[in-house]
Amino acid sequence: MPLLIVGIGLIFLLDTLTHYEVAVAVFYAVLILAVGSRLSRASLLRLAIVCVFLTVFSFLLTPTGNLGTGLINTGISIAAIALIVHVHAKIQAAQQQAQAAQQQLARLTQVQSLAGLSSSIAHEINQPLGAMLTSAQACQRWLAQEPPNVLKASQSANRIVQDADRVSAIIARVRSLTQGEQIQREAFDMNVALGETLLLCQPELQAQKISVKTNLMVQLPMALGDQVSFQQTLGNLLLNAIEAMASVPPQFRVLHLATSIEDDSILLTVADTGPGLLAEQEQQMFEAFWTTKRKGMGIGLSISRSMIEAAGGQLWGNNRRDGGAVFYLRLPSVKKEE
Ligand code: ADP
Repeated sequence: MPLLIVGIGLIFLLDTLTHYEVAVAVFYAVLILAVGSRLSRASLLRLAIVCVFLTVFSFLLTPTGNLGTGLINTGISIAAIALIVHVHAKIQAAQQQAQAAQQQLARLTQVQSLAGLSSSIAHEINQPLGAMLTSAQACQRWLAQEPPNVLKASQSANRIVQDADRVSAIIARVRSLTQGEQIQREAFDMNVALGETLLLCQPELQAQKISVKTNLMVQLPMALGDQVSFQQTLGNLLLNAIEAMASVPPQFRVLHLATSIEDDSILLTVADTGPGLLAEQEQQMFEAFWTTKRKGMGIGLSISRSMIEAAGGQLWGNNRRDGGAVFYLRLPSVKKEE
């Protein structure tokens, strides 16, 4: 502020003492340009009025020079001051708009992540919820029989309990993911976990007339990772494969599942005989909300990849040489970590 007053005083003195022909007052505009961004709109306007007033006052006090030229120079200086104030006002308005847009964007991002979270929960729990409904209907049928088949009914009820446990495990997992918690790393048998997930998808595989070929390595070392995340990922890969193969005739629908050891890691391969992936799809399909399906949400693969990577693994996919898509899921084996 003191510097500003000194600057204004200096310009006023020089403008008054020099001839009309020397347009020192233009420097008021330069001064306003220099300090304008630090002032509020009202202060800027007040400063401009003071500068205009001093320009006119200097003109009246200047003793020598050509009066006509002095008038023109004074006019130019006032116009320059007005122009700079106008430009500053425009810049400030644009900055305010940009700030408002940024706040709006931040709100939108928040809403979007909320929407993403709710759709991811819906996506992940749909499968066990469907299985619970099927088991509940079966349970009702067993009980409605004459005499009621209590053994079968209680088996169905047990399946409901298992699926309910699965739902709460999934919700806990999604919640811990969104809260940035570390994923559990435990030793688990990938072949057994695969068998359980495959069983859940059995009704869908049968309905779509898909034959399943498994090539599971015997005496597979234990995998190190989060079993629930692994099963969610595999469930998602199986559903995608089932949906992809819907577009080929039933006799060509084959799902290949294999486990093997690769560089001290355990590798799961899920291959289908569907139409395969388009060239640019190999990376894009792992982006959130990227889908080619009319009713797809495009979040299954992106969530799966972040879960597997959080557990120290990898998930990727590409085309098979003889048609269809193949997905690879790699997790460290217990041996490697020791
Ligand atoms: P969604 O299934 O809701 O579309 P995903 O993230 O699981 O979400 O899949 C994203 C996209 O990846 C799918 O829309 C599809 O285009 C492609 N994709 C995934 N799996 C396969 C597959 N087995 N064969 C062909 N395309 C696939």
